[in-house]
Amino acid sequence: MTRFTKIVATLGFASDSPDKIAALVAAGVNVFRLNFSHGTQDEHAARIKSIRALEEKVGHAIGILADMQGPKYRIGTVEDGIVLEAGQMLQLDTDPKIGDGSRVYLPHAEIFDALLPGHTLLLDDGKLRLTIREMGADFMRAEVMVGGPLMSRKGVNIPDVKLATSPLTEKDLSDLEFALQHGVDWVALSFVQSASDVLQARTIIGDRALLMSKIEKPAALDDIDDIIQASDGIMVARGDLGVELPPELVPSVQKNLVGKCRQIGKPVLVATQMLESMIQAPTPTRAEASDVATAVFDGADAVMLSAETAAGQYPVEAVEIMARIVTAAESHVRKHPHDGPKRMPIEQTVYHAVAHAAVGLASAVEAGALVAFTASGNTAVRIARERPGMPFFVFTPSVDVSRRLALLWGAQTIMQAETGYEEAVDEARAVLQAKQIVSGGDAMVIVAGMPFGLAGSTNSMRVVQI
Ligand code: PGA
Ligand code: MN
Repeated sequence: MTRFTKIVATLGFASDSPDKIAALVAAGVNVFRLNFSHGTQDEHAARIKSIRALEEKVGHAIGILADMQGPKYRIGTVEDGIVLEAGQMLQLDTDPKIGDGSRVYLPHAEIFDALLPGHTLLLDDGKLRLTIREMGADFMRAEVMVGGPLMSRKGVNIPDVKLATSPLTEKDLSDLEFALQHGVDWVALSFVQSASDVLQARTIIGDRALLMSKIEKPAALDDIDDIIQASDGIMVARGDLGVELPPELVPSVQKNLVGKCRQIGKPVLVATQMLESMIQAPTPTRAEASDVATAVFDGADAVMLSAETAAGQYPVEAVEIMARIVTAAESHVRKHPHDGPKRMPIEQTVYHAVAHAAVGLASAVEAGALVAFTASGNTAVRIARERPGMPFFVFTPSVDVSRRLALLWGAQTIMQAETGYEEAVDEARAVLQAKQIVSGGDAMVIVAGMPFGLAGSTNSMRVVQI
């Protein structure tokens, strides 16, 4: 049975070899994530090369998502064996000297400008919690509220403030240029705070890649509609989000974000800790299985694996199990449609209305497949928005489009030479028959923009009887 919800897997030392990458694709990966928080550009270049070589071999598009580190704050190095005790004071300052139990180096001047007494400072993914008591120009003194061991280079989160920083650091600008030159399909921006962050990145990226905003700062939620509008897709980045927000709020933020993206038809990816225990174990917890299924029931376009595939002991098993959970959840939805993604109220535009009508038509005639012809990918996005119940094929002459759509819910992309409309219909019929998706007596519903081949106009549908 076809799987509709896509799988994104992060590459890392546990999965870098061409053999492992091939095994991950065989297990169900649709898009690889390159995490620029780790590794060198040379390492990422080798991964891109392996993915593109494999693409040739398997004969279908594989997406590549370059995830920028963004303004991720970290403390400097500290002595071994430091344990902070609740109630003690800790100084954080701009002195690069190695830290001890009473002070540590915080190499980010802008944090000192933004924080005020009373604000919270979180260390090591929120495991340690401090409250600022005193602010100076180049130091701050904070009371430890929740203590614990503190090691070098641990992450720092400051949930209470919106920082006056660009989401693209110097390192990101270099990584971004590198990634674009190597032909990645999507760029993910970390710690987006506002739509203007996205627009600023867009001026650099242009149309060289699609742009995904990672929602992991509470500040982003205040500007979320404009952020979604300005982005090509959204990642529900539950790792940092769940550090900066209380964990009990993460599920409803996830529901809201998925719903908002679905409403306007932008791909949405649910990420982080989905099968976390599989970093060390060959099977997931039941709660993790349920988490993956929930993303499917909500109608997310894709679910993501991070350390599970990048640094875990069971990368291939994690993908296999994720694919099985997704497939089982989707099969549940076929039997119990009310448990699955809601139908979205239709947007008042011709192309949304055409896609909506085509999906209704396809189910009325019990079509064996829906087919979209698209030069830009837009027709495919609009059909995916309707979450159709039948196999959904996208024919495009653009290799870039086919790779970008690897992330899109349900889209199975097939490369097609630039031809006229009738030839394209004949080819689609032949391809889907050869794949045994449709056979004699079946119908397929075709959605296209006319004039044919011109981007940007989803305006026609047709029932083709095989
Ligand atoms: P990261 O982003 O893995 O780059 O931190 C995802 C998240 O925060 O969930
Ligand atoms: Mn993050």
